[in-house]
Amino acid sequence: MSIVISNLCKKYGNKVALDNVNLQIDKGMFGLLGPNGAGKTTLMRILTTLIPPTSGTVEVNGVQIHRRKEIREITGYLPQEFSVYPSFSVYEALDYLAILSRITDKRIRKDTVNELLEKVNLLQYKKVKVKALSGGMKRRLGIAQALLANPKVLIVDEPTAGLDPEERIRFRNMLGSLSSERIVILSTHIVEDIESTCEKLGVLREGKIVYSGTVGELLKSVEGYVWSGLIEPDKLNYVQDNFTLISSVRETEKFRVRILASEKPFEGAENISPSVEDGYMKIIKGV
Ligand code: ADP
Repeated sequence: MSIVISNLCKKYGNKVALDNVNLQIDKGMFGLLGPNGAGKTTLMRILTTLIPPTSGTVEVNGVQIHRRKEIREITGYLPQEFSVYPSFSVYEALDYLAILSRITDKRIRKDTVNELLEKVNLLQYKKVKVKALSGGMKRRLGIAQALLANPKVLIVDEPTAGLDPEERIRFRNMLGSLSSERIVILSTHIVEDIESTCEKLGVLREGKIVYSGTVGELLKSVEGYVWSGLIEPDKLNYVQDNFTLISSVRETEKFRVRILASEKPFEGAENISPSVEDGYMKIIKGV
């Protein structure tokens, strides 16, 4: 099971949204990370055949992306703006979406809907109206919808935006368990989403893949660059202007800063162990 992306380009008029992207994605959970405007949604939309590439190729299990019908049969998609009729119950909504997915046999449809609701932990809410669901529950219903055809590839766009911390963790764990038997691509600008669930990730910046590899390799690449130290409040501007500042926290009269720098940024700063966010910032800021 694999997706192979070669020399992929996408232009909207003169605007280059994807610039010669090369990437291989295998079974498991893959995180696609990048700031707003980096090209993540464009890549997701190409992978789900919603838009064609300008040039380059994508193969999903050996099937070329322009064979839309075949690709759609093996791909499930949860877009950012997923919504269903608010006055349907959870069961009715998924049943309706199952009909649209051409699961016409009533018995099979009933079993499929119940199984999926159980999988996404919504079975006990099957009679609740969609409009009464929390944000996290709605996303889980969206995942159930994306799984209707038991796809080999599941693509999820910014899934945790707007969820509270508990829902976010629950949602991430659910995606993790779904990735044991398929490719799950999680597109996000939230580093935390990737850190806790994805083994591999790709980072997009201005349409280019600027990193692809494991989370472990990313951490290794930033080792030695992360510094922590206490500074006087009047030095904060200097630090901000001259280094990549990850965080600053007030400690009594001073600030504890976390900085990315190739050399010791100031007297008293100490090297500390990196996080995925440090690795991401190093790539994005080009430290
Ligand atoms: P992301 O999902 O990472 O925020 P997008 O794929 O939405 O990035 O956008 C990548 C770039 O392409 C951005 O500069 C955006 O403004 C531009 N873009 C996206 N969709 C269109 C479109 N339909 N027409 C013109 N430009 C677009």
